[in-house]
Amino acid sequence: MFLFIMTDELLILNASQLVTLKGAARPRVGAEMRDLAILENSAVLIRDGLIVATGATSEVAAQAASQCQTLDAANRVVMPGFVDAHTHAVFAGTREDEYEMRAAGFTYQEIAARGGGIRSTVRKTRAASAAELFDMALPRVRWLLEHGTTTIEAKSGYGLTLDDELKILRVIQSLNRDTPLELVPTFLGAHEIPDEYRRSDDAGQARTAYIDLVISEMLPRVANEHLAEFCDVFCEAHVFNVQESRRILKAAKELGFGLRFHADQLSLGGGSQLAAELQATTADHIEWIDEAGIAALQRAKVIAVLLPGAVFNLGLTKYAPARRLIEAGVGVALATDFNPGSSPTPSMQMALSIACTQMQMTPAEALTAATINAAYSLNRGARLGSLESGKQADVVIFDCADYRQIPYFFGINHALTVIKKGRVVVTQKSLGEKPIENCYTR
Ligand SMILES: [Zn+2]
Repeated sequence: MFLFIMTDELLILNASQLVTLKGAARPRVGAEMRDLAILENSAVLIRDGLIVATGATSEVAAQAASQCQTLDAANRVVMPGFVDAHTHAVFAGTREDEYEMRAAGFTYQEIAARGGGIRSTVRKTRAASAAELFDMALPRVRWLLEHGTTTIEAKSGYGLTLDDELKILRVIQSLNRDTPLELVPTFLGAHEIPDEYRRSDDAGQARTAYIDLVISEMLPRVANEHLAEFCDVFCEAHVFNVQESRRILKAAKELGFGLRFHADQLSLGGGSQLAAELQATTADHIEWIDEAGIAALQRAKVIAVLLPGAVFNLGLTKYAPARRLIEAGVGVALATDFNPGSSPTPSMQMALSIACTQMQMTPAEALTAATINAAYSLNRGARLGSLESGKQADVVIFDCADYRQIPYFFGINHALTVIKKGRVVVTQKSLGEKPIENCYTR
């Protein structure tokens, strides 16, 4: 009766739109971002966790084993799982008090200057054990999967001591091993200057001492233990300046880390130029980037990771110039920036909605940015981000017949069934008579 659960084959058939994103094996740029390579009334066949065929339902179904599990996607959109290329998903505590303060007129920087912001999350995260942090992250993992996200980048940066940074990175490693979500770890020891390095009498020396700690102790240890693939720095007027960021990122590059970079978020500080200079994989945020910065990213083939949820949630009006970036040929990715302060949402669908209405990205550009381009920004473009034979079967069935409805009906969750490595990990109801083992039921 539920033989299908025993097989390694899964056939999704009759999709009104199979959004394959088939195309060049590199980040999509310019007009390519509007080409989703959609197949209508089509199917995808999955075997042993990989996609083995896509195309007309009758042709693909003919290749399936007779007892294979089937999912009927009639009147539904089938797409690659979202790849969220920028999150701070492992943290303790929440900051709804600051959310209320911002409603009363305080800015993000004013709240940070009073000891709130990142440092308030650091205090709570330091106080939590690894086991507690893991447990706190589990419901967020569930949220992410339920909203159709199958891979995330996850940063440390709420520890800011050697042991606490290692603790967060080990929790990310555990979540990657023990949950269906795939997590790509980034070391962000230079997220903020911690409280104990903010003595007013010798502020300059204390800052330098913290940066020395990041470079000479944290980075080598993280590298030795293979706890992160990327290194990130928060380059901003009230955090790390361009010179400090360059020192840290150069040291990281020498140790073999890929570079991601919080740049030009709240002011134009030269971060985008630095990302290009160091040939970073990504420059993230870049709300304040100028034409010279855009040209530098394009020349150096740095992927721009845009985070409109943070602009929206901080009540700001200056979004990244997505249209200019796309016109200039920069590869653009979208991400949530999921974190307890500036962007407390795990929903890529929400990021798409804001991208379309506030940055004038077309729905097709936004989907490309949220899947294949995001996968390339995590060095996983050859395996994730599109529905093509040989790729990993990370697939989502959405409860709408046209992909444009995903951003259009905003504030609701369209994801019905989520498949990671060929296995159903979220479904709106149990398939068959028994619930699927280790499967979230919506
Ligand atoms: Zn961030």
